Amino acid sequence: MNQLKQRGIGMTSQRTRERLISRLREEGIENQDVLEAIRNTPRHLFVDEALAHRAYEDTALPIGYSQTISQPYIVARMTEIALSQGKPDRLLEIGTGCGYQTAVLAQLVSRVFSVERIEPLLDRAIENLAQIGISNVVCKLADGKMGWEDRGPFNVILSAAAPEKVPPELLDQLAPDGMLIIPVGPEGKQVLAVVHRQGEAKEYKTYEMEPVRFVPLLSGVTR
Ligand code: SAH
Repeated sequence: MNQLKQRGIGMTSQRTRERLISRLREEGIENQDVLEAIRNTPRHLFVDEALAHRAYEDTALPIGYSQTISQPYIVARMTEIALSQGKPDRLLEIGTGCGYQTAVLAQLVSRVFSVERIEPLLDRAIENLAQIGISNVVCKLADGKMGWEDRGPFNVILSAAAPEKVPPELLDQLAPDGMLIIPVGPEGKQVLAVVHRQGEAKEYKTYEMEPVRFVPLLSGVTR
């Protein structure tokens, strides 16, 4: 993915990035394509300049509006799950945030559709993605709980925010054999769930992967 344009690499040297990749490997991330996409994504461009020196730590960081850029481990884990049945053609992401996970996904998936409910964050994400030369992403300001019906069905739907229960609208927008990757549950008790649609049937199997901490999936949009 050398086509990603890079800027201001100084403090965010290749060595710092390699340390993050080693850590992700230690934490159990095995998919080489995922590790490569993370290695090639300049996370320091997605956070405020004041936090750029921490961009390659394996931690969530604030991005304003009470939201966070996701921890690299969880981005890697969800992306690895998203690729577990081969390369998805169409993927819907809920919660664009600053666009970091979007950028990782866009390197591995043919087309990414991404929905965010906070307009200033979405504007920043669109700028960030353009700046690093990513062009296979379409974004919109909307409540992602409703999915994005016009652009579906999707092979994978991946949510970066946690509802208390799986929204049925999202299941309806899964393609045959599609999968929904979503943190579910009240704050402090969330688990990463993977819901598999069983072939063409409107039947689903849910797998609970691991405990996680995400911001809540909220309703409506904020301009
Ligand atoms: N993927 C982002 C993570 C952002 S945090 C990254 O890599 O930085 C989760 C995001 O989900 C926040 O930006 C929040 O505003 C958004 N969000 C919460 N509820 C939402 C909803 N109903 N629809 C769309 N986005 C939502």
